[in-house]
Amino acid sequence: MTNLKEQIESRRTFAIISHPDAGKTTLTEKLLLFGGAIRDAGTVKGRKTGKYATSDWMEIEKQRGISVTSSVMQFDYNGTRVNILDTPGHQDFSEDTYRTLMAVDSAVMIIDAAKGIEAQTLKLFKVCRMRGIPIFTFINKMDRQGKMPLELLAELEEVLGIESYPMNWPMGMGKDFFGIYDRFYNRIEMFKAEEEQRFIPLNEDGEVEGSHPGMDEVLYEQTLEEVMLLNEAGNEFSREKVLNGELIPVFFGSALTNFGVQTFLDTYLQFAPMPSPRESSAGPIEPVQETFSGFIFKIQANMNPMHRDRIAFFRICSGKFERGMNVTLSRTGKPMKLNNSTQFLAEERNNVSEAVAGDIIGLYDTGTYQIGDTLTSGKEAFSFEKLPQFTPEMFVRVSAKNVLKQKHFHKGINQLVQEGAIQLFKTVGIESYILGAVGQLQFEVFEHRMKNEYNTEVIMERMGDKIARWTTSDKVDEKLSSSRSMLVRDRYDQYAFLFENDFALRWFQEKNPDVELYNPMDQH
Ligand code: GDP
Repeated sequence: MTNLKEQIESRRTFAIISHPDAGKTTLTEKLLLFGGAIRDAGTVKGRKTGKYATSDWMEIEKQRGISVTSSVMQFDYNGTRVNILDTPGHQDFSEDTYRTLMAVDSAVMIIDAAKGIEAQTLKLFKVCRMRGIPIFTFINKMDRQGKMPLELLAELEEVLGIESYPMNWPMGMGKDFFGIYDRFYNRIEMFKAEEEQRFIPLNEDGEVEGSHPGMDEVLYEQTLEEVMLLNEAGNEFSREKVLNGELIPVFFGSALTNFGVQTFLDTYLQFAPMPSPRESSAGPIEPVQETFSGFIFKIQANMNPMHRDRIAFFRICSGKFERGMNVTLSRTGKPMKLNNSTQFLAEERNNVSEAVAGDIIGLYDTGTYQIGDTLTSGKEAFSFEKLPQFTPEMFVRVSAKNVLKQKHFHKGINQLVQEGAIQLFKTVGIESYILGAVGQLQFEVFEHRMKNEYNTEVIMERMGDKIARWTTSDKVDEKLSSSRSMLVRDRYDQYAFLFENDFALRWFQEKNPDVELYNPMDQH
């Protein structure tokens, strides 16, 4: 039991979130190098250089061989077992990206110092906030000219609406980048220095004792002034606030040149939370206990195009996984044996024999699982909290190409929707089907799987981006529906409106003040 407790307490499971090109791959790679999980830089990078024909799923799968195995990366560092979950961006952005954040205990947000907060970072940040998980920020690319640090800090607090605390502070940037003034370790870390001479210790007043050769006096004085400003006018550090997701620790560095990365990792691991209890129908489930339990947060379809097998990504929430163990699938009450499972590593996929709360395992799935499913080895089956509904942003009208295939069409749609691959809406009045997604990839996967698994070709007619808002109002009827504010029902028969744009949304609200609208992603 102590052993299990120690094992679980050594777990740190997090996701790295960022807008494409901020440096997620580069930082991940550096972290993996520290952990000894990969030998060469470039291993992770390789997976995203492939350009694929977006219509060809088989091709996507081929390109994705490595991306799939690296969607969970695990390594040991200083007695901690680190699990990093990938949150794909670009064309790969999908509801799965959001759901991945349901399986982590904290998140690292990378920001490009020249760009500040970008669209995708903001979306992912909001999902983290929804769960109240701690977020740590790494402001990257300090070796290049970027925005002023104080400006970045102000933007962070304004755009994200959250307090921040710089753990360290940059001294210069771009070609004048000297290093970071480390408030946490009370030292200066120099950018251009031999490994052993990297640090200048600071005295109790946070100043360099005597003088340091090579130190630019003007820059040094300016840094002291800025740090004093932070000390006096900035937020106070509070571990509790960090753990409640109310204060973001901020780090500066340069992933590419591997500067500030280890300092970040060391500090981060001190504050990042270990696996915490999770809410369920049977109350909070403590991680440290004999009973094994967890939930499926993502299903990766068609790993092997020759077969229909998929991998269900499973977050262990309590106890220990052992190969061949007997569990119950709570949704159906069906007992099952967990034989084929896999643990994820950057370079290879190993068959896992042992994993504990906090870890992520992959379960081979032949169509048994749905996203959100709970598995437990306990006598009493229970279910973890339902995964939230994410607000889709892009929509298509969908129908079967061949009218004689209606039965297959409906069966396919229903199963894929239930599995969580895509969201389904029906128009009111003359009923037609609309699919909603957060990323284009979801439509492609849908089309491909309908053809291959349900033998149905579909016609998808783009409707473009829309703003979806739900309503529980009983004052809703067909008359409120127009091309700019289309009334639909979701798969639970809840009414929602699809607005053409922000203007249409506001116009509708003005005209219909008693129809209350809400965004499910703001509900938590
Ligand atoms: P991702 O899309 O977030 O995974 O970003 P990448 O890690 O692929 O980085 C995007 C680009 O930024 C690449 O050309 C990187 O070499 C570059 N990059 C990443 N980190 C740094 C950095 O610290 N400094 C500079 N100058 N470039 C960086």
